Amino acid sequence: MPVKLSRQELAEIAQFGRNWDNANLKRIKDKIRKHYKREQNKLCCFCKLPFRDSVEVEHTVPKGGKEGRNDFSFHPLNLSVACHHCNNKKSTNNDLIPWTLTTYPRSGLYFKIVHPHFDSYFDHITIEDKSRYVAKSVKGYKTIDRCKLYDTTITEQLVKYMRYEDDPLIQGVLRIRELGGSFQEITKKIDRFFNFLF
Ligand SMILES: [Zn+2]
Repeated sequence: MPVKLSRQELAEIAQFGRNWDNANLKRIKDKIRKHYKREQNKLCCFCKLPFRDSVEVEHTVPKGGKEGRNDFSFHPLNLSVACHHCNNKKSTNNDLIPWTLTTYPRSGLYFKIVHPHFDSYFDHITIEDKSRYVAKSVKGYKTIDRCKLYDTTITEQLVKYMRYEDDPLIQGVLRIRELGGSFQEITKKIDRFFNFLF
């Protein structure tokens, strides 16, 4: 589900010119990051690996640079979270078709890469031999290429992650983790455990 911004928050965003880097909008950005981290089950939208270091808000249509569209910088459907590697490698390519679109599209057809809200990731990318990303479509190919999912920094994590996927103990611990709520303390401990593993 896309993040819901209140009338007040939308007014603040407009007041500061939709400028993502404006310090006054930090609280709203933190809310956005937290929301999508939870929505995506703490997985990066491009490599589908658990977050290891930073959790970065990703703008599908870039917010700045030559290819930037400031008008979409706080659009809920343009936002998701990615790991540092993917966000950094994806950079500010123009993946919106056509570039001149004035309202935010409602379908993945308007994008060259897998859209975190409109597309079903595994329709476009599959994981083979528990160690590499393989494209199932042109979009999948472009996503792998943009985010450099073949880099060893990513594939080494993938191998590690897939090994744990088959481990019944780790899967059991993950299920307890999903209970969340009143189990917050347990959740924190398990997060520490996983940070240690990854
Ligand atoms: Zn990633």
